[in-house]
Amino acid sequence: MAFEGLGERLQATMDRIKSKGKVSESDIKVMMREVRLALLEADVNFKVVKQFINQVKERALGSDVMQSLTPGQQVIKIVREELTDLMGGDNQKINLSQKPPTVIMMVGLQGAGKTTTAGKLALHLRKNFNKKPLLVAGDIYRPAAIDQLETVGRQIDVPVFALGDKVKPQQIVTEALDHARAEHLDTVIIDTAGRLHIDEGLMNELKDIKEIATPDEIMLVVDSMTGQDAVNVAESFNDLLDITGVTLTKLDGDTRGGAALSIRSVTGKPIKFAGMSEKMDGLETFHPDRMAQRILG
Ligand code: GDP
Repeated sequence: MAFEGLGERLQATMDRIKSKGKVSESDIKVMMREVRLALLEADVNFKVVKQFINQVKERALGSDVMQSLTPGQQVIKIVREELTDLMGGDNQKINLSQKPPTVIMMVGLQGAGKTTTAGKLALHLRKNFNKKPLLVAGDIYRPAAIDQLETVGRQIDVPVFALGDKVKPQQIVTEALDHARAEHLDTVIIDTAGRLHIDEGLMNELKDIKEIATPDEIMLVVDSMTGQDAVNVAESFNDLLDITGVTLTKLDGDTRGGAALSIRSVTGKPIKFAGMSEKMDGLETFHPDRMAQRILG
């Protein structure tokens, strides 16, 4: 399960301090050393770890904590609050336009889960917001991508706009938007091409699509299993496209958690959703407080 190692280590550290009637400065220092190691082992970005530790230390060493009746509990509360903050505080909602259609552009590397998440989002928006989505097949390079999106569309009964693999994605998006307006479909979800690595050609195409579609949401999909790489990818996509949100996929796997804990802090952009299975209903809104609770047990 995700965060298993991190959770176990943090819980063990917390347990040691929990019942203490008195907490000394050196107790806090020992504890923070353990927390630091646990976070680094979970592949959390080292700068993020440093900042986190300093923040917790500063608060934990304050006189109101040290002199309280339950200092151990207070310290644990601080760790939980800081973990929540690290992941973005409150849940950040998906951007929906007042003036339909809302346009959501899915971006990310190949295999991250873009196509799957496009379908999951369509289902989520129909179920919870009563939206009428249109899925747009903008990945013309990966041979099976269009078929895959069409299969997804059939599964959830959402229309898919595709023009095959001979028409440029820019043109596909232009026509898809006209189609959505004509058919009164109020949410357009564009699946874009992913590559194995970020390259200039791909990024120029994505910039073009952004310009044409003026998306309300540029949703970066990243694979949580890839740890530090996920964070680097998020940084690059954000620099080039100014993303508006992140979906972390494969949190049902045994990811160590580094991406979940670093992305917000490194990019400044919120994680909005978590992918929890391969199935179409396997998308959860990302709640930093619940995630912190889950990690700390
Ligand atoms: P794309 O290349 O970015 O469009 O990625 P796909 O949508 O094709 O997903 C790649 C693989 O990851 C597929 O086998 C998906 O079923 C799987 N996948 C996507 N999201 C999740 C998730 O949240 N959990 C799990 N377990 N698998 C996922």
